[in-house]
Amino acid sequence: MRCLTIAITAAALLLSACSGSSNDPAPSTPPGPSGPRPGTWLSGDLHLHSDHSDDAADNPMAELVKLAEERGMGFFTITDHDNHVEGRLTTWDDPAFRSDKMVLLHGVEYTTARGHANLFSAARFDHLRFYALRDRTDAEAGRAIAAEARAQGVHLSVNHPVNGDPWEFGFDMPFDSMEIWNALYAFPTDNTGAIRLWDELIAGGRRITGRGGSDCHHQTGIESLGLNVGNPTTWVYAEAPTAAGVLAALKAGHVAIGYGPSSERIRLTADADRDGGHETLMGDNLPAQGQAVNFRLEIDGARPLGVYNVTVLKNGQPLLERRLFGEQALDFEDTPAAGQRSWYRAEVRGNTPEAPAAAVLVGFYGGFVGMTNPIYVGYE
Ligand SMILES: [Zn+2]
Ligand SMILES: [Zn+2]
Repeated sequence: MRCLTIAITAAALLLSACSGSSNDPAPSTPPGPSGPRPGTWLSGDLHLHSDHSDDAADNPMAELVKLAEERGMGFFTITDHDNHVEGRLTTWDDPAFRSDKMVLLHGVEYTTARGHANLFSAARFDHLRFYALRDRTDAEAGRAIAAEARAQGVHLSVNHPVNGDPWEFGFDMPFDSMEIWNALYAFPTDNTGAIRLWDELIAGGRRITGRGGSDCHHQTGIESLGLNVGNPTTWVYAEAPTAAGVLAALKAGHVAIGYGPSSERIRLTADADRDGGHETLMGDNLPAQGQAVNFRLEIDGARPLGVYNVTVLKNGQPLLERRLFGEQALDFEDTPAAGQRSWYRAEVRGNTPEAPAAAVLVGFYGGFVGMTNPIYVGYE
């Protein structure tokens, strides 16, 4: 993401009067009903670099933790480049890597010549075993990485799969999630290619969680005019506010992605038995019995005067488009085909007030407020 700094420099020279709004302390995570399943929404940024990465030397861990706490984050991880320390990670041993307010995940960016992936774990793990696989180019290399992740209980999440440093280990290997929204939605690279790939993998029968990651390297200077910790934010609906709870929710796809920690959170639920309770969450799978399903889209933290352009996608194609105002919810019914795979997800566009003026003026954030993970029908 080195090109980010260069390109934002050009924009910021034009827009130098528009600085600062992304650094403002933000209110806590938007409230919202949790539904019938016990749990809590936790916000976090799943791709961050500290001064343990060579290209983020001006980004002290303590300041990262402080900013994340100020922005009301519920969980926190640092994903420094492993190749900058030849696999011998130093991030987790930094005394500043601690928080009384946030759930901490152990993370690292597995930075290879054939692509990048973030590894997440509730506890320390033996990263040198992953590092030993980094230079493999044989057809089984991706599966070897996945097997190591499974053996150590580590969550394997492919980063920026088609942009910048694309993932070249192949997508037929098992992995747990994919970064479908890196940095600002439309800048430095358009994320629609990653989302298209995600849809294709799901169409092929995979259930892969889509997540966000700011890939933020600096808290001050040019880059911070456009994005900072939490742009975008990934929310997980965790049964317990623990590292294991966060990772279980991430794996299960109980996940929404939004512009920032205090921006709107998009939530798609379903009432499959039509008893009035929307007990099915994003990431859940329903049987394909050919029966009508009631769906509901809600915008937690919606602004009273907000105008939200909602697109519901079925099997990767627009199913319906609606304009919602304020806290208005969208209820719709659809009948997925019996015995076939279907999936439903939503995207919301508009002008979230959290987007910094610079990003809005030059369209870097693409007017993209947030998105959901799918509700699946007929998947294994
Ligand atoms: Zn990367
Ligand atoms: Zn990165």
